Amino acid sequence: MNFLEEKIITDGIIKAGNLLKVDNFLNHQIDIDIIRQIAYELKRRFRGETINKILTIEASGIAIATMVGHLYDVPVVFAKKSQTTNSTDDKYMAEAYSFTHQRHNQVFVSRPYLSDTDRVLIVDDFLADGQACMALINLVHQAGGEVVGIGIAIEKGQQPGGDLLRSEGYHLESIAIIDSMDDETQSIRFRSEYN
Ligand code: 5GP
Repeated sequence: MNFLEEKIITDGIIKAGNLLKVDNFLNHQIDIDIIRQIAYELKRRFRGETINKILTIEASGIAIATMVGHLYDVPVVFAKKSQTTNSTDDKYMAEAYSFTHQRHNQVFVSRPYLSDTDRVLIVDDFLADGQACMALINLVHQAGGEVVGIGIAIEKGQQPGGDLLRSEGYHLESIAIIDSMDDETQSIRFRSEYN
């Protein structure tokens, strides 16, 4: 088991509805040592790639993205969420259904912060159905930039996002991939256990 899988076993709480709560180190209180290890591991997995921008989505992706941006010494941009569809003159806009909040969000990045010279590493805390990542990919493509890779802390492998992104040819790296979890027994199985 790697450091993140161990942390999930110790501190994660499995809720009904296929939801993993990691408030104690990622989504409310931030454990800097864990975030630092996640960032180093993502950088190691994307070694050799030229990356000049990190892109995430507010709010909980920002902590990891900032630490990754620090390691690459490149700007970190976070897509903002809005429930209204405003003019797209000054921004790139995409739609994402939020798994946790069960509603559609418009997500946007103001035009000056993405461009056709950008080689982007997308970073997020969780990957579930892939909606958030697909929206971020869409924003990069609208700007004419390139998605070099997608770095995720926790992938819920029982949901289709990971398979979808891999089948589309994206270089996706997830540090902990959950294959199954049970809220009644509070048990989790990671994909790494089968390999
Ligand atoms: P997706 O768009 O891939 O379905 O979901 C990714 C987003 O939903 C992430 O940005 C994350 O904030 C949130 N999310 C999805 N599943 C979970 C979960 O089990 N626990 C937590 N804490 N967040 C989740």
